[in-house]
Amino acid sequence: MLAERTAYMRASEIRELLKWATADVISFGGGMPDPSTFPLEEIARISSYVLETYGGKALQYGQTEGVPELRDELAKFATSNGIRATADNVIVTVGSQEALELLGRLFLDEKSVVVVENPTYIAALQSWRVYRPRLVGIPMDDRGMRTEVLEEQVRRLKAEGARIKFVYTVPTAQNPTGVTMADDRRRHLLEIAEQNDLLVVEDDPYGYFIFDNINVTRLKALDKSGRVIYLSTASKIFSPGLRLGWVVADQELIKWFALAKQALNLNTPTLNQYLLLEGLRRGVIQRNIPKIVELYRRKRDAMLAALEAYMPQGVTWTRPSGGMFIWVKVPEKIDTREMLGTAIAKYKVAYVPGHGFHINEGEGRNTMRLNFTYSSFEQIDVGIRRLADAIREFL
Ligand SMILES: *Cc1c(COP(=O)(O)O)cnc(C)c1O
Repeated sequence: MLAERTAYMRASEIRELLKWATADVISFGGGMPDPSTFPLEEIARISSYVLETYGGKALQYGQTEGVPELRDELAKFATSNGIRATADNVIVTVGSQEALELLGRLFLDEKSVVVVENPTYIAALQSWRVYRPRLVGIPMDDRGMRTEVLEEQVRRLKAEGARIKFVYTVPTAQNPTGVTMADDRRRHLLEIAEQNDLLVVEDDPYGYFIFDNINVTRLKALDKSGRVIYLSTASKIFSPGLRLGWVVADQELIKWFALAKQALNLNTPTLNQYLLLEGLRRGVIQRNIPKIVELYRRKRDAMLAALEAYMPQGVTWTRPSGGMFIWVKVPEKIDTREMLGTAIAKYKVAYVPGHGFHINEGEGRNTMRLNFTYSSFEQIDVGIRRLADAIREFL
C-alpha cells in the first residue's frame, strides 16, 4: 500500500546509532551537543517569564513565517554576523531539517539537478532523495569544496542543457568532514553562482563557534543579488530539543517557504519561539557561545591527541577548526561498515561509517565520522584507544 517514494526513504544510520549511545558502549556516532552547554537555569527563568508575560499568545497558533518579534530578533542576529537582513527576509522553521525538507518540496522534481559537496550532510540527502533528484557531487579537500571542479561541472551541465536547482554547501566546519571552506573558494563559489545565475544554499549551524584564529565570512554576507538561501539553527548554540531553525533569504523566496510550510505544520511551536526570542534578547545565546568554543576546542584537542597517540600507521584524519566532527580515513582494505559490528560488540565503541554521506554507492568505504562533543574527556581517550584496537584487528 505504500507509495513508491518510500523506496527512497532510508533509515539513517546515525539515528540507529543513537540507540547504542547508552550502557558500556562509547559512542562517537551521534551528532549531539554536550548537554552541559544547554543554558538550563536561564531557560527555566525564561519559561516562566514568557508564560507570565505573553500568556495565551505563547500557547496559541501563530503566523507561518514565525513570531514577528522573533523574526526581527533573528534578522538582528544575522546582521551581527555580517548578513544584511530584515524580518521580511526571515522564516522560522522546525530546525534546519524542516528548511531542508521545504527546499525539496519547493525546488525538486524527478531528475532535478542538485549540486552538493561529496561527502555531504546525510540528513539533506535523506530529505531530498524522495524527490528523485540527480545529485552531482563535488569533491572536497582540506580547503573545502573544490570550486574549480564545480566550475567545470557547471559548464558541463550547462552544455547538456541541464538546469541546476541549487548548490548546497556546509561551508564552515562541514558535517561530516569538519573542513572549513577557504575564503578565496567562498568568493569563487559566489562568482560561479553569479556568472551562471545559480541559487546557493548555505547551511550554517557551526559558524558561531570557531576554535582557531581563522576568519569566516558567511556566503550570505557576500551575497549581492539575493541568490544565497541561508539556513541556521538554535540546535548547537541553545538547545536541539526545542527544534528551532530559521532561513534568511530573498523576500520572494520567504513567501514560497511560508506557502510550503503552511501545509506541513502551520507554524513552528509558538512557545519555543518565545523562548528563543527571550534567549536572544537577554544575550543568553551570545554569552553561551564563548563557553561552547572553549569546551569544544578542548574536546577537539583531546580527540586529536588521542588519535595521534593510539592510531596505527596509515590512518589519517582532519583537524577541524569548528563544529563537532573529525573525519577519519583508514587503510583501503578496511570497510568501516563491516568493522562496525565488531567495534561495538567486542571493543565497545561506535562511530558513523562514512559511506552514507556520499552520493554514490561504493564511495567512502574506508572513512568514518567521529563526534567529539558529546563524550566526556575520559570517554574520548578510552574510546579512541578502543577504536584503534578495532582498526588493528582489521588491518
Ligand atoms: C546539526 C546540523 C544541522 C541542525 O539541524 P536541526 O534540524 O536544526 O537540528 C543542520 N545542518 C547540519 C549540516 C548540521 O550538522
